[in-house]
Amino acid sequence: MKQSQKKRINGSRILNGVPAGDYIFQNIPYAEQMEHVSALIKAADIILIGAGAGMSAAAGLTYSGERFTRNFGEFIEKYGTAYMTDMYAAGFYPFPTQEAKWGYWSKHSMINRFLPPALPLYHRLYEIVKEKEYFVLTTNVDHQFQKAGFRTERIFATQGDYGNIQCEKGCHPKIYDAEDLFRRMDRARHDCLVPSYMVPKCPVCGGNMTMHLRCDQYFVEDENWHEAAGRYNNFLKKTEQKKAVLLELGVGFNTPGIIKYPFWQMTAANPKAVYVCINYGEAYVPEKIAKRSVCINADIGEILKQL
Ligand SMILES: [Zn+2]
Repeated sequence: MKQSQKKRINGSRILNGVPAGDYIFQNIPYAEQMEHVSALIKAADIILIGAGAGMSAAAGLTYSGERFTRNFGEFIEKYGTAYMTDMYAAGFYPFPTQEAKWGYWSKHSMINRFLPPALPLYHRLYEIVKEKEYFVLTTNVDHQFQKAGFRTERIFATQGDYGNIQCEKGCHPKIYDAEDLFRRMDRARHDCLVPSYMVPKCPVCGGNMTMHLRCDQYFVEDENWHEAAGRYNNFLKKTEQKKAVLLELGVGFNTPGIIKYPFWQMTAANPKAVYVCINYGEAYVPEKIAKRSVCINADIGEILKQL
């Protein structure tokens, strides 16, 4: 692999929270890397996909800009532009009532989970890996992998799903499908609020419910979550000593402990593994595994189209 155009940076200074050491920014024109990645995927016995927010943003589920203002105009008007800057920030608005909280989240779920079909970028990724032994580890909660045809038993969505709700205090290890509820809320919403009778209550403790998203210590890991975690761990055992491609898509440095660091560690531990990272602006890799890594500093959509 070409090393000449790489730039060495000091990880501990430039990348917040990344262990100290030398990192490589592979600043190679991606056209040169494409052939290499295609060959790696073709030759792979096994493919582990790690997908973060950048994957869904590249697919079209952008959380800011025109898509936000077009869909959330009345929320921006009601709650002000200080919080309502994009769909990430909006979710942290201190909604004063449950009617307001569910007014927002039912809309958010409709826009990002229930209304979008499987997006072409996810279809494309599925076409690339479907004949292979693959597994998906994702922090995305929008259900796109399932929609695009990836088999449920080969997906571990660690951080929840916009389609489910749980007890706000996690008093019992169960999550609840909220599709029907959110569709009804979407029709009944008025002035950004849902009617009081629609506000869900915990069937066990009677307290408030919340989205099934990992944002505090009360996140519920139910039976299905643990089964998926188990299948993921079994898959990891299979990758040992195999020609594995660890394909990381749109994973930033916000929560690198879930996908990025384990992928680096697995690549380091398995001499037959290669690490492929597609991330515009953050395509870094530790020097230790740089020779078995391809970091493409480009848009995921552009790359997958050409693979
Ligand atoms: Zn409860």
